[in-house]
Amino acid sequence: MKEHCGHSTDCLKMIQLILDGEATEQQLARLKVNLESCKPCIEMYHLEKEVKELLTKRMEKRCCPEQLVATIKSKILTFS
Ligand SMILES: [Zn+2]
Repeated sequence: MKEHCGHSTDCLKMIQLILDGEATEQQLARLKVNLESCKPCIEMYHLEKEVKELLTKRMEKRCCPEQLVATIKSKILTFS
């Protein structure tokens, strides 16, 4: 297993494609080979995945209209 990645820019691009669900089968296969031999890329993959999950959760919260309306109403009440 490699401790350093000599192609981290490419790896990051591919990781982001996969997490966005936009990678082709060929890219998926290539990244899988990379990840099996490349320690920093495995770590990067998990980190990116976590960040993405966090962002998704946040967006879901923000998109909740009922809660948003309640928040706005309570703010209006506070200021009036
Ligand atoms: Zn790599």
